[in-house]
Amino acid sequence: MAGGRNVPVACLAAWPLIAVLAGGCRPPPPDTQRPKVGTDPCAERLHDVCGHLLLYYQIHKRLPPTLKQLKSSDVLPLPPLVCPVSGKPYVYEPQGLLLRGQPGRLVLYDPEPSHSGIRWGILVGTSARGDSIIPCVIAVTEEQLASATTQPAPEPPDKQ
Ligand SMILES: [Zn+2]
Repeated sequence: MAGGRNVPVACLAAWPLIAVLAGGCRPPPPDTQRPKVGTDPCAERLHDVCGHLLLYYQIHKRLPPTLKQLKSSDVLPLPPLVCPVSGKPYVYEPQGLLLRGQPGRLVLYDPEPSHSGIRWGILVGTSARGDSIIPCVIAVTEEQLASATTQPAPEPPDKQ
């Protein structure tokens, strides 16, 4: 477990997990003509960043303070950290934003709603044992972002 020489192993080991995440990650049901994860270059880009966040967390047991800590490698090339549509850098919130109706925290998202009115983002959940993260690319609406908070929400009452 310990030792810095097993980084490539951790890197390779991350791939099946990423594949599982990709298969198990379902975007919200489409109610408009939303772009789809897997066909959208911005979502693809964020998906690659997911692998980097996962790898960084496995090594450091926390998310990077800034995106500058993410390094490109032969195994895991780091894509440009800008939205391919707007050309503007992604917004990174290492402490994460809580979105209504979504488990986990939004840590990275489009600077503008450049994709048919929605933004792509990375939602990070914690594994059941709490020793790993589960990053997932999701579509974020302006409504969700406007009501997002950085504080853990108090226990919601039965009715809103
Ligand atoms: Zn984008």
